[in-house]
Parts: sequence; structure tokens; C-alpha cells
Amino acid sequence: MYKLETIISLAKRRGFVFQSSEIYGGLNGCWDYGPLGVELLLKIKDSWWKSMTFRDDIEGVDASILMHPRTWDASGHTKQFSDPMIDNKVSKARFRADNLIEEHIIKLRSKNKNDEADTIEQKLANIKENNDYLTIILDHGIKDPVSGTTEWTEVRNFNLMFKTFIGPLEEASSVVYLRPESAQGIFVNFKNIAETARQKVPFGIAQIGKAFRNEINTKNFLFRTREFEQMEMQYFVKPGAELDWFDYWKKQRWQWYIDLGMDESKMRWKNHDKLAHYANHAVDIEFEFPFGWGEIEGIHSRTDFDLRNHQEFSGKKMEYVDAVNNERYLPFVVETSGGVSRGLMAFLCNAYSEEHVTDDNGKTDVRTVLRFSPKLAPITAAVFPLVNKDGMPELAQSVYQDLQKSMKVQYDSSGAIGRRYRRQDEIGTPFCITIDGESLTENTVTIRERDSMKQERISIDKIKNYINDKIY
Ligand code: ATP
Repeated sequence: MYKLETIISLAKRRGFVFQSSEIYGGLNGCWDYGPLGVELLLKIKDSWWKSMTFRDDIEGVDASILMHPRTWDASGHTKQFSDPMIDNKVSKARFRADNLIEEHIIKLRSKNKNDEADTIEQKLANIKENNDYLTIILDHGIKDPVSGTTEWTEVRNFNLMFKTFIGPLEEASSVVYLRPESAQGIFVNFKNIAETARQKVPFGIAQIGKAFRNEINTKNFLFRTREFEQMEMQYFVKPGAELDWFDYWKKQRWQWYIDLGMDESKMRWKNHDKLAHYANHAVDIEFEFPFGWGEIEGIHSRTDFDLRNHQEFSGKKMEYVDAVNNERYLPFVVETSGGVSRGLMAFLCNAYSEEHVTDDNGKTDVRTVLRFSPKLAPITAAVFPLVNKDGMPELAQSVYQDLQKSMKVQYDSSGAIGRRYRRQDEIGTPFCITIDGESLTENTVTIRERDSMKQERISIDKIKNYINDKIY
């Protein structure tokens, strides 16, 4: 397992991810995606979008980030979307009380104090009110990692929604929120979409979009940020059919990660012991990050909680009318909710590898490779002229220009060929194409595959097919 710092450093050095507003010292919990990062994000989203909408029963939507504030009353976010927050009086450091306790449990386990860890875990599962967090923290002498003291404040609730104002007046009646999840944009459009797309239950609505949460502690790179993107799909089913669909979507979503090269041994299911107020069943897909296991996607059976509440708060009927069976009902919902940026981080960690290689002169070296699936690699192929003379650059340019019509390609003519391969390995480019002397007479190139480093000679007019065959 590699250190998170190693991956963050590569991500910055090669232009995947930068700190937001870095020249001003950065903005906590916000990140910018550089040239390679944005390609990777787009490929993840494209693959998800196609897997969801290239079928008969799922439609897409792109709802606005700002929504009517009543939306958040109906969804429960105004009242319930808060985390328990605690401050240390000496260092003034602020923590999520539950996270502070969870980290203490991890520390206890690393010291083999499993009995105490089990006891705390048990107490954590039975929390009823904020005071219970404080009791655990004080009873178990949990210290502030900054000051080393146990001088804690009370535990207070902190609502995670970002508040702003719509229009020129900053008054209570103009408060709006940046959406904390994209799902509600789907629910409020349920009738619009069912009717205009003439869909019949069961059917789903998919959306990719930004969400904002004023997280108390942001950490672990892209894992917990204040601005992030979600890819969510709400599948509307007849009440009673939800658990079958739940199993179906669990399988689909697991397989999606596998098809994109995720190592199955780094994935696991986590059942929710404590269900959210809206759910009757919920599981997470977790990934083993360098800092431990963390959720990358949740699959939730949300009952008719959302449609029922929107119906009540808006006064508009949200029922589905089944004309064939002459029935009306509020559909139940099975949701798949994944983070694009958390997913990107998981794919990056999954792809990272270092290996020791020996060159022809017996010299050993470390080869850093991002083993992305060719479907996700930010750059699909790189084209090199072996030397910058004898007509090779001209032929290489024409191969490059032609490939660029259908895929993301890089041209590199600087330095020894071995170094050019390494530069591409480090960003995960699966195919490197070299134009050499033989190319000029035979119309062929060598194509080198990233993981095996094997080279094949193929004719120029076969390159596209060769690559497409490996991708699809
Ligand atoms: P967590 O328990 O980690 O805060 P959550 O259970 O609140 O997450 P959901 O509300 O189910 O998360 O959101 C669905 C997905 O959105 C998560 O699986 C994750 O991939 C992503 N996500 C949620 N919060 C964040 C965040 N602060 N930064 C990045 N991605 C996030």
C-alpha cells in the first residue's frame, strides 16, 4: 500500500489535481482538476452516464444547483442535515465528534487494545443525543490531537448546507442553499420526466452534478471536500418491488467498478447498521484507500419518503398513474449515489504502482505506472518519432493528427525513447506508438503496451482498430 502523500504528489506534479486558489494559500476542502485530472473526471462520468442512460428505462436530467428552499424542508435537510461538532478549548481545533471517536478506536486497535475499542464502538452505535458523544470522549480520555488536552466544549449540531441569498436583499426570505446532494433535483422533476419521456414504472432518472457540504473537517485529499460532484440515479419502482431492485442495482454498481479495472480485493460491502431517516435498506461500496476503508458509493432503498414529502410540502400530486392496471401510487425509490471525485481518487489509488525494472545494461530503476483501465486513462495513446530527422517527425505527426480525431493523444519528441515511455507510464497512457526507420519504408509502427511493456509491429492503418479493440 502506497502512502497518500505519494499519490497526492504525483497528482500535482503531473497535472491531475491542484489545490484550489493555490497562489493565495489554498482554500480548504476545495480542489482544482488539471489537464489530466479533468480528462479522468470526464471519462469516469462518461462511462457512468452511458452505463445508466444507454438503456430503455433510464432518463437523464441536469437540474439547477439552487433550488426552492422548501425543497430542503421537505427532504429533511434543513432540520437533520447536521454533524455533531466539538471544539477543544485550548487549541481551538474543531472536530466532528463521531470522527474523533472513530479515530480513537483505530488508534486503540493499532495498539491491540481491542476490548476497549469494541466497548466504544458499541457505545457509538447506540448514540441517542449529542451528550452521549461527550460522555464517550470524556470517559475514555480522548485527547485533542493538537493540544493533547481533554478540555472539550459541549457537542453542538452544525448544519452542513451552504447558505446564500438570491437577489439583492440579504434577508431571511431570500435565503437559498447550495444543494448538498443532487438527488432532490431528480425528485422534484419526477412528474415532468415521467410524463415527457412517457416512462412507465419501473424506470430511473440519472444526474451528474456538483454538490456542496460545509464539512467540519476536510481531509484525505479528495475524499471529503466541501465542493464535489455526484453521480446519482433514482430508480422508481412499485412499492413492494424495492428489495429486488435493490439487489439488482447492488450487482450493477459493483460490476461497473470492476469493468473499469478496480481491484476487487480492495472493495467491500458495508451494511448500514443505523439507517438514515428515509431508508429501509442501505449498503455502501467501500474502497481500501491508503488511509483505510472509506465509502465510495451508497445504494439506498429510500421508500416513498422523498416523493411523499414533496407532495405534502408543495401541495402537488406526485403519484404515478398506472393506466393499464388502473392504479395510483407513490413509487418507492432505489438510489445509487456515487461521488465522482471520491471515485476519481479511488481509481487513482487503485492504479498507482511502482515496480523495479532492469534495463539492457543491468541497471535497476523504479518504474512508476498508473495502471488505469484503457477506458479511463486520461491520454489514450502517445506518438513518438524515434529520432527527429529522416522524415520520422512528419510521419509521426500525420499518425498523431489522424488519431486525434477520435481519441486523446499526446505527441512527444523530446529525450531518449525510454524516458518518453516512462513519462507516459507515470500518467497511465496505455499505448505508445513509435515511428522508426522501418515505418518509412513499410508503413508500420511499434505499439508498446504499458503494463506488459511488450511491443508489437502493426501497420499504420490498423492502429485505430488495435486500440479500439483493447478499449471496448
Ligand atoms: P460520508 O459518510 O462519507 O460523509 P455520506 O454517507 O454522507 O458520506 P452520501 O450522502 O451517501 O454520503 O453521498 C453519496 C456519495 O457522495 C458518497 O458515497 C461519496 O462518494 C460522495 N460524497 C459525499 N460527501 C462527500 C464529500 N464531502 N466529498 C466528496 N465526496 C462526497
